[in-house]
Amino acid sequence: MSNKCCILLALLLAGMLLFSSCSAGSEGVAPAPTATAAERTSGVGFYFDTVVTIVLYGAPEGLLDEIWADCARYEQLLSKTIQGSDVDRINHAGGQPVQVDHETWEILRRAIEVSDSSGHAFSVTIAPLTALWDFTGGTNRMPTDEERLAALPLVNDDLMILGENDTVTLPEGMEVDLGGIAKGYIADQIAEAIRGRVLGATLNFGGNVYAVGIKPDASPFRVGIRDPQGGDNDSIAVVSVSDLSVVTSGIYERYFELNGVRYHHILDPETGISSDSDLASATIISKSSMTADAMATACIVMGRDKALQYLAEQGMDGLLITRSGEIVTTDGFEDLYSLMRLK
Ligand code: ADP
Ligand code: MG
Repeated sequence: MSNKCCILLALLLAGMLLFSSCSAGSEGVAPAPTATAAERTSGVGFYFDTVVTIVLYGAPEGLLDEIWADCARYEQLLSKTIQGSDVDRINHAGGQPVQVDHETWEILRRAIEVSDSSGHAFSVTIAPLTALWDFTGGTNRMPTDEERLAALPLVNDDLMILGENDTVTLPEGMEVDLGGIAKGYIADQIAEAIRGRVLGATLNFGGNVYAVGIKPDASPFRVGIRDPQGGDNDSIAVVSVSDLSVVTSGIYERYFELNGVRYHHILDPETGISSDSDLASATIISKSSMTADAMATACIVMGRDKALQYLAEQGMDGLLITRSGEIVTTDGFEDLYSLMRLK
């Protein structure tokens, strides 16, 4: 919990938002709303292991609280580490079918679709591998070959059964990890819930942004794309969007370095090791934040050439940044989103 408060404190010091108090809940941190101008309401919270920043224009009283309540509910449903969550129950069912909330079932269904279309570059059953790596704990420990090879056969999305009445069955030992898709789903749901009730809004789930509606001056929202070689607030380019989600997966989010190699949180399901593809980040713009989220993760694993082909096949708009700093986009991207390069 102190870790989470530290992140919030850092935000405060960075002068990003006014933050008057932080009362710790069971997992998330209850946010403090700030009304900095008559029409603008904003708040910052900590959910899904991520700093969540919400800015609303022309919102009715209480809407921000509704959003935080949704975040808390989704965290209770989808977190791998909360006992009794749907994901926890699926992961510890010992091979038995588990009935879950329809939303959980639906996320898994979509996850399997992206898994299939991406040739399993995105694998929702990645959990036995992610459990071997510790990208947040600071131990910088690499799993042994033995551990990794034992976990690899447990990562196989084809073996998950999504049955009738929202049941999920996994063979014993297998587990799911929604880290690569859940934030997208939640962004979609919250965007849907507030659409028509605000003039505009930005929902930012740590690199997963939904721009709802338009800004008060009727212009589109401008969303920065992070420079993979820069710091947290360094953008390499800016896109203009309205009513769209801009989702970036990057190899700079959670990582450690060992013997000159960067090990980051996006794993190649074939090797069980952090993807060593030529991509440093993948940004996808779409109405569906969930699809963009899962596909952005897949793109990192695929690497530049395969990812470009994949996005074109899927009719998705993307911007990829290679490890050497080259920016490549799908056809038409620059014009569609008035791409502005800053570097
Ligand atoms: P972030 O969560 O930083 O926005 P991503 O959307 O790319 O980034 O998701 C990364 C998370 O997804 C990891 O922390 C892990 O939980 C999970 N994950 C890692 N590798 C894969 C993979 N190949 N397929 C599906 N999920 C993955
Ligand atoms: Mg993702």
